[in-house]
Amino acid sequence: MNRVVTVDRAVAEAAAVLGGAREVTLLAHVDPDADALGSALALGIALRGRGAAVQVAFASPDRVPESLAPLDVLGLLVPASEVSPAPEVLVSCDAAEPRRLGTLARLLDTAGATVMLDHHATNPGFGDVQVLDPGAEATVVLAHRVLVEMGVPIDADVARCLYAGLATDTRGFRTAGPAAYRLAAELVEAGADPAALTRMLMDSHPFAWFEGLGGALERAVLEPSGLLHTTIPLSDVQRHRSEEIDSVVEVLRTAVEAEVVASVMQIAERRWRVSLRSTGAVDVAAVATALGGGGHRAAAGFTREGTEQEVIAAIRAALASSGTGQ
Ligand code: 5GP
Ligand code: MN
Repeated sequence: MNRVVTVDRAVAEAAAVLGGAREVTLLAHVDPDADALGSALALGIALRGRGAAVQVAFASPDRVPESLAPLDVLGLLVPASEVSPAPEVLVSCDAAEPRRLGTLARLLDTAGATVMLDHHATNPGFGDVQVLDPGAEATVVLAHRVLVEMGVPIDADVARCLYAGLATDTRGFRTAGPAAYRLAAELVEAGADPAALTRMLMDSHPFAWFEGLGGALERAVLEPSGLLHTTIPLSDVQRHRSEEIDSVVEVLRTAVEAEVVASVMQIAERRWRVSLRSTGAVDVAAVATALGGGGHRAAAGFTREGTEQEVIAAIRAALASSGTGQ
């Protein structure tokens, strides 16, 4: 069976499962981004409108990212501790593997039925209905397809959630293809405001962050191999919002000399979350997978224990053995 037929069939199955559900829990991955939460909230708002009981959650951190909170117009988000232990239907949004659901991955075993929506090539496949399309630019594209299949009209609240994921996963439409632009046009017509959403999601930082960003840029090292890396210490990770910390890698990737950039963020004394970005030929999903994570060709990540130097050495070694230009 070819991929398109498989995805089409999965979208139809997902629509059938969700269309008949009375109680749905939608999960975003840990450290949720606009694609994960936008997918979960878009589906959640639409299902709530059809009368279903809906919860949206993610395992960690405890706080909803400030820049994403306004998307939750109906107050569907609940703390991880309040999630129904055995929902009728569970939907996993934008999680490349069960581990990305954190402690809430346990619901995959207790839910009546599970639907997985994702677009990561490294996803091994999980859940009863698997809407997995690495060709989709964002998981919201798949959420939109399910909503269309269900015959749900896309109102402004749903359109904003979908637009949020589409705009961020395509880095402000830099990597968008014709289908994504067409979907964007539809969402803008339905009431999504591009300028307001882009400012909210991608273009606003407190002035106090500039000092943290300055430090991260000063510490950046460009290696002869084309690997550019910097470290963000725990004190900065704790002091600033995830919106600020996660934005560093996007500044690093603008260095013309860099082939691969790595933002190495300290999340505990000996624990590091790493964001990898490729500016060209290197497949960073392969590098991240080798180090216990995953992602896309041009954007991937992993979390690892050790010292800062050990983590950077591991990236160097994985790049060298990935054989893609390093
Ligand atoms: P970011 O650097 O923005 O956190 O993540 C970049 C991409 O890699 C995203 O698509 C994200 O879902 C994926 N990713 C980040 N960390 C992990 C991980 O630990 N495991 C897997 N499978 N994917 C990850
Ligand atoms: Mn995504």
